[in-house]
Amino acid sequence: MNIILLGPPGAGKGTQASRLVESRGMVQLSTGDMLRAAVKAQTPIGLKAKAVMEAGELVSDEIVSGIIGEALDGLGAGTGVIFDGYPRTEAQAHSLDAILADRGRTLDHVIELDVDEDALVERITGRFTCASCGEGYHDSFKQPKVEGECDKCHGHEFKRRPDDNEETVRTRMAEYRAKTAPILPIYEARGIVSRVDGMADMDDVTAAIAAILDSSKS
Ligand code: ADP
Ligand code: ADP
Ligand code: ZN
Repeated sequence: MNIILLGPPGAGKGTQASRLVESRGMVQLSTGDMLRAAVKAQTPIGLKAKAVMEAGELVSDEIVSGIIGEALDGLGAGTGVIFDGYPRTEAQAHSLDAILADRGRTLDHVIELDVDEDALVERITGRFTCASCGEGYHDSFKQPKVEGECDKCHGHEFKRRPDDNEETVRTRMAEYRAKTAPILPIYEARGIVSRVDGMADMDDVTAAIAAILDSSKS
C-alpha cells in the first residue's frame, strides 16, 4: 500500500506517519527529514536547500523528486510507503506518478489532514523532537511522560527546527495554500482522497486513518 499524507505545516503528518510505521511496518518517506539530513551532512543538495528551507520556501521539484526516487529504490517491492510532505506542487505530483509507475507501484490513498490555520502556529512553535530517535513532542500537547526524557529511546537531548518560528510558518502556510492545496483535485478525480479532522486528539486522528486504510482491504 502506498499513501500520501497531505496537510499544511503542523497538521500532524509526521506524528501520524511514525505511528503507521510502528503499527503497520510501513516506511515513512519525509522529504523534509531527508532534506534536513542533507543540510546537516552538507551534501551538495543540502547546501542548495538550506537557505530556501530557512525562509520557508519550497526546494526545487527536481531535487525533491530525485531524492524520493532514490529512496524508493532502496526499498523492497512489497514495502508499503507513506509519503509525508511530498508531493507539494503539481509538478511533483506528476513526477510521483511516473516514479511509482516505473517501479510498479500504485497510489492507494491520499489522506488530507484538515486543520484550522490558527492552531498551526501554536502547533509549530511548540514542536520539538528527540535528538536521538526523532520522536515528536509538543510543549502543550505532548510532553514526554518523564520530564526531559524521551518516551521511546530514553534520550535526554531534544531539538527544535530553525524554521519553526512564527514568521517562517506564515510563509510555509502561504506556500501550502498557493502550491500544495491545488494538487488535491488531481487525486479527487481518481477517487482516492479521504479527509480526516486533524484538529481531533492525536489518537482519534490515528483511528480515523486506520479506518480508511482498513476499509480498502476488503
Ligand atoms: P507535520 O509533520 O504535519 O508538520 P507534526 O506531526 O510534526 O506535523 O505535528 C506538529 C506538532 O503538533 C507536533 O509538536 C505534534 O506533537 C503536535 N500534534 C500533532 N498532532 C496533533 C494533534 N492531533 N493535536 C495536538 N497536537 C498535535
Ligand atoms: P512540515 O513538517 O512543517 O510540513 P517539512 O519538514 O515537510 O515541513 O518541510 C520543511 C521544509 O523542507 C519546507 O518548508 C521546504 O523548504 C522543504 N521541503 C520539504 N518537502 C518539500 C517538497 N516536497 N518540495 C519542496 N520543498 C520541500
Ligand atoms: Zn528518543
